[in-house]
Amino acid sequence: MGTVFIPDDETFPRMADAVVVGGGIVGVATAFWLSRAGLDAVLVEMRDGLSTLTTAQSIESFRLQFTEPAMSALAQPSIEVFENFAQVIGIPGYDISIRHQGYLFVCDDPNLVDAVRAAVEKHRSLGVTDSEFLTGQEAHARFPFLAESVVAATFRQRDGWFSCHEATQGFAKGCDARFLLRTKAADILTDAQGVCGVETNRGSIATRTVVNAAGPFAGIVGRMAGLDLPLEPVRRQKAFISPKPQIPQDAPLVMDIVRDTYWRPEVGGGYIAWVNPDEPVGDPAEELPTDRYRAAMVLEKLIHICPFWEEVAINLKKADVHPSAGQYVYTPDNQPLIGPVSDLPGFHLNCGYWAGVMLSAGAGKWVANLVTGAMDPQDNPLRFSRYQEGIVVEGDSFLRGRH
Ligand SMILES: Cc1cc2nc3c(=O)[nH]c(=O)nc-3n(C[C@H](O)[C@H](O)[C@H](O)COP(=O)(O)OP(=O)(O)OC[C@H]3O[C@@H](n4cnc5c(N)ncnc54)[C@H](O)[C@@H]3O)c2cc1C
Repeated sequence: MGTVFIPDDETFPRMADAVVVGGGIVGVATAFWLSRAGLDAVLVEMRDGLSTLTTAQSIESFRLQFTEPAMSALAQPSIEVFENFAQVIGIPGYDISIRHQGYLFVCDDPNLVDAVRAAVEKHRSLGVTDSEFLTGQEAHARFPFLAESVVAATFRQRDGWFSCHEATQGFAKGCDARFLLRTKAADILTDAQGVCGVETNRGSIATRTVVNAAGPFAGIVGRMAGLDLPLEPVRRQKAFISPKPQIPQDAPLVMDIVRDTYWRPEVGGGYIAWVNPDEPVGDPAEELPTDRYRAAMVLEKLIHICPFWEEVAINLKKADVHPSAGQYVYTPDNQPLIGPVSDLPGFHLNCGYWAGVMLSAGAGKWVANLVTGAMDPQDNPLRFSRYQEGIVVEGDSFLRGRH
């Protein structure tokens, strides 16, 4: 079983086969797979606990409805891990509360119907054969809470959500890695062969393999290694709305692709959010302010596709609205950076996520396979060098927040 602790002089490891920087779900999944591959893996996390920064702000949802081939190729094995989690981590009965309530992308703009239909065709061509196109009529019949104006939708019943807190802890428990809390990477050490260690606030750890999984701070960790990574953190806000009888609890995650807003049920209430495509790029941050009137703006938008929100909004009290914020991290093609960096042997990336929860299990495994040689770097379409090589395959998956 992995150990999660605040190290002292005695317990601080002086060397490791691999050091992962960052204890969000992406880093912890990476440490899990490195450890499962037989490496002595150490993870350093600067905060008080695992999964307390961006991962804790997520609405914990997953989908296979991607139009980018690489994202789909990463999401499919990733979701398979979450669907078989107890078995994968080897702890019988371990429960991450997975729910298959579906993802429903709706639109009320007749000009977008062809794009919606094309998205489903793309999902299917990438092997996701249970993604469905619904006409407005079909969508209303299945989801009576939708507005009459909805003209088309994509839906996949087996999409859904799970507890990413439980998943992160499960990855940590299901392996032999060591997870060091309140331990901050301050520098990446190099020599003529490449990476040779990580300097932290508690001392240095000698290693020939470092994985940068520092979430919004991955650009800073990249600079420690002399790399200028094209990573852009952008604040994303959500709000939890306290339980209300009008919010259908058996609904899927419902996304309005016209207004970039979404909601999903949660414990009698619901999460609401607007992925504003015009939100500016910010600096990496641990504390992020929320806008005071944001929830009201989001509700105003949601009413267009789900009119019941109007009734919720009318009777809403300040105490019913619980706002919070985290950061998406974008790359030039809105897809993550995964695997070794050719300029610095031993330095690996696992960063650049706007959907890192759902991709974490697959991405961690790809990194471990790249470290051990089980995966050829040329078979990794999300390698950093793709920009230089000119092999970027862009997509237009809904809800990524950048057009
Ligand atoms: C409102 C919102 C909703 C979202 N909803 C979803 C969703 O439904 N599904 C989905 O898949 N994704 C969602 N996301 C995105 C998802 O939360 C992130 O992509 C994911 O959590 C990234 O995980 P991570 O491990 O890379 O980053 P983080 O969770 O941020 O972890 C990085 C860790 O690195 C640590 N760190 C940084 N620098 C150092 C250092 N120098 N030394 C040591 N430690 C360091 C940090 O303290 C942090 O704990 C959402 C995000 C937001 C903001």
